[in-house]
Amino acid sequence: MDRERAHKGGVLLLVRNSIPAKDFQVDTKEQSEIQAVKITVEDTEITIHNLYCPQDKELSLHCMDIASENSIVVGDFNSHSTCWGYDHTDRRGDEVEDWQIDNALSVLQALKSSKNKDLNDLTSALTSLSQTHTIALQWIPSHCNVFGNETADLLAKKAAALQQNDYTTTYSEAKTIIHAQQHEEWLQEHPNHVQNDAYHALTRAEQVVIFRLRTGHNRLNHHLYTKLHIGTSDQCTCQTGGQTVIHVLQHCPMYENLRNLMWPQDTPMAQKLYGSLDSQQHSCQRLGCPFE
Ligand SMILES: [Zn+2]
Repeated sequence: MDRERAHKGGVLLLVRNSIPAKDFQVDTKEQSEIQAVKITVEDTEITIHNLYCPQDKELSLHCMDIASENSIVVGDFNSHSTCWGYDHTDRRGDEVEDWQIDNALSVLQALKSSKNKDLNDLTSALTSLSQTHTIALQWIPSHCNVFGNETADLLAKKAAALQQNDYTTTYSEAKTIIHAQQHEEWLQEHPNHVQNDAYHALTRAEQVVIFRLRTGHNRLNHHLYTKLHIGTSDQCTCQTGGQTVIHVLQHCPMYENLRNLMWPQDTPMAQKLYGSLDSQQHSCQRLGCPFE
């Protein structure tokens, strides 16, 4: 991406010549620098945004159109959050986190410590894509005094310039072996991986609602008041308790009739949020209204 009044820095996306790609402009009113490209992989269109935000600019997250199913956002956000490995969360971290959750995006960095079931669709998508393509996704923390980063970079460049060994294992064989091994390790590290989460069968709008219910990041008073300091208390308008997800789904007298209609029998929270397709649809179609 060309900068008009600066000499270095900026963002750059490289796309292999054999992949159909089309780049487009994202207007951030001179805040973050964003480069975007749509690529097509086997009839699937994938939108990739690459963002660089200097300390003194606004993040401009909402300038990106990430409504499509297949969106990848990479970049240097200059933001800290415990969600991606920092020991604290700063203001920008909060901003990125809320934007990420609002848009049902998964944080790649969180894959390593994936207790979060909501990352399953990202991991499944990556697994399925890796059947036909080689994917290398690497998170590189910047400004963190990571020892050896520069050295590794230098060595990688030197190594790439050397004459390569002629191994008898073909590229494709090596790929298959690595893939099988990684898959095995991943399954061992994620014993609770839910392969058939009905979440995947929901519409994207429904997924957003379920995601907000599961994570507690939503527009209910409890989250607004305790996390974002909006409003005067976390109380529900029924005045019988804090307006949390469990309150609305299980206890709030204002939703009692609706609940009885949706779930005639006593149904635990886990069933409503992680259960059958029907159950999850009920949670977002009717009771979901305050979460949109
Ligand atoms: Zn209530």
